[in-house]
Amino acid sequence: KRLTIAIDGYSACGKSTLARSLAKRLGYSYIDTGAMYRAVTLYLQRKQVDIENPEAVAAAMRNLRISFQPADNHVLLNGENVEKEIRGLAVSQMVSPVAALSTVRRALVDQQRLMGADGGVILDGRDIGTVVFPDADLKLFVVADLDTRIDRRLNELLTAGREVRRDEVAANLEERDYIDSHRADSPLRQAEDAILLDNTNLNLEQLVEKGVELVEN
Ligand code: C5P
Repeated sequence: KRLTIAIDGYSACGKSTLARSLAKRLGYSYIDTGAMYRAVTLYLQRKQVDIENPEAVAAAMRNLRISFQPADNHVLLNGENVEKEIRGLAVSQMVSPVAALSTVRRALVDQQRLMGADGGVILDGRDIGTVVFPDADLKLFVVADLDTRIDRRLNELLTAGREVRRDEVAANLEERDYIDSHRADSPLRQAEDAILLDNTNLNLEQLVEKGVELVEN
């Protein structure tokens, strides 16, 4: 059977890395739902949409289309590859308020359900096991210590050639964790039937091994 696998957790806990590697191992498709919220945020920023204006946000949602480039999973916004741009601090600093908007969540959740409808898919995000696919075959909830998450994300950004300070990364992760877990509409939480996976002391190989073990059992 081709499973539906949900991976949730706080920002920069290693979920995307795990999801991507697992999908490759299993020959499944991978849906980075965070990239979708990021692409919406980029669109709203570019069009200078007032996010407090529900009609303006709804109109924007009708005018944008998000898809993934099959070859490398890069996210496309109305056909444009915005993978690089969505990872910057400007988008990171606005994405959680945008993701708290019901109009945005409804549209993206619908699209995620369609994209994952046939199984053989791994989705990572904040609400996959609780809202998008509450009947997923396997649910993982990934955690890691805050300092570890900050260091890993900082490293990632520096390696990508971005100029960013540790305190900026730390503030962004803490702020997103707070907003994501306190919003009214589907706040981030561990689903009751999700398996907790602590990634603090694991390297990539060990993390993926754990994931494979859990899929096979
Ligand atoms: O996964 P990533 O850190 O790229 O997600 C960026 C932001 O998108 C999160 O901080 C959260 O605000 C939002 N998000 C969400 N629901 C998801 C995935 C991401 O609200 N399923």
